[in-house]
Amino acid sequence: MDALKINKRLIMTPGPVSVDPRVSQAMSNSILGQFDYEFVDIMNQTMALIRQSFLTQNKWSFPIDGTSRAGLEAVIASIVKPGDDVLVPIIGRFGYLFTELVTRAGGIVHNIKKPMGEVFDQDEIIEALDRINPKVLAIVHGETSTGRLQPIDKIGHACKTRGIFSVVDAVATYQGMVIPVDDWELDAVIGGAQKCLSIPSGITPITFNDRFSEEINRRKRVELGIRSNEITEQDDFIRSNYLDLTQLQDYWSPKRLNHHTESTTSIYALYTGLKLALAEGIENRAHRHSYHQEGLKLALKALGLEIFGDESNEMKMVICVKIPQGVDDNAFRLGLLKNYGIEIAGSFGELQGKIWRIGIMGYAIEKQNILTFLSAFSIYLAYQGVDNLNLEQAVSTLLKYYETSE
Ligand SMILES: *Cc1c(COP(=O)(O)O)cnc(C)c1O
Repeated sequence: MDALKINKRLIMTPGPVSVDPRVSQAMSNSILGQFDYEFVDIMNQTMALIRQSFLTQNKWSFPIDGTSRAGLEAVIASIVKPGDDVLVPIIGRFGYLFTELVTRAGGIVHNIKKPMGEVFDQDEIIEALDRINPKVLAIVHGETSTGRLQPIDKIGHACKTRGIFSVVDAVATYQGMVIPVDDWELDAVIGGAQKCLSIPSGITPITFNDRFSEEINRRKRVELGIRSNEITEQDDFIRSNYLDLTQLQDYWSPKRLNHHTESTTSIYALYTGLKLALAEGIENRAHRHSYHQEGLKLALKALGLEIFGDESNEMKMVICVKIPQGVDDNAFRLGLLKNYGIEIAGSFGELQGKIWRIGIMGYAIEKQNILTFLSAFSIYLAYQGVDNLNLEQAVSTLLKYYETSE
């Protein structure tokens, strides 16, 4: 049998991104049984790390087995029952994902929208909360499809005082910037693995507070076969089994009620990834992302490219550039990948074919990789016959940026 051969890549997309070899090493350890006391100990330590990573005291901080979408779906499926009103502000593709998940859960979606590239003023969202009075606000923090950062620091408090539950998709911003869940008074927050945390996809750290827990436990159902006699059947129980947060609470607490079989290697990855992130420090990590983003952005401008969107509301984990006139989106990205082993991303919907998204996420974000990326990307762009590119200016801008700021 031929061994699997994976070629070298420099992944500069908004996920998945390169993994620290220490994470890969951790994943190659032996499997432990899911109720092995040593594994249970690692589970408990992982919960403590998740709390630290979200700057929260929330007891309920544990991972969902599945990609970030599973984390989003678990939270929505558990808090939204048929007929519940949910406000979903839309600034890009992932707002539509929330819309989809709420609709499938039987909730009634109320959208407010901004043109692609813009974000809401928080007062506009608060005004909509007052007008609609939903049970839940589901909002995207870092909208990777447009590269926008939606401010949310006032939203949690506004929801809380109105008895509304705030649910935040922080998949792309998690561990790429500081998200103080308790200070911002957010009820449920979903992080990500293969974005700034930089571990393989397939596991999703989430956190939610006691207020949220009490609400979802009104619809608790324990599955037949492991249900004890004292539990009574409810009519409007949570419809999902796999993504039922209340059963997962029993799995992730001393009850250790049997649910799914935890993915041992994913927990090793999450544990190690979080240890590395916290050792670096969340603030240092945030600075590393914004520092390299700033340098590369300056260089791309010096090259002659136009940045998409208003820089005042940009995410630091992705740079959106307009695709130069006459360049074919797909052909260019495929060529960059095949010739240089470098991957960047296109976008979705109305931005498809119009912008490229260059991910500034996680482990690979350091000077050598950014310089290598800029050099290869610029030259390959010049090779496509794009006019008015200033290669020398681009490279010297970045080199000088590093020289003067180191
Ligand atoms: C990547 C991403 C997701 C989806 O994550 P998966 O791990 O692919 O399920 C959701 N929301 C945002 C903002 C993202 O960037």
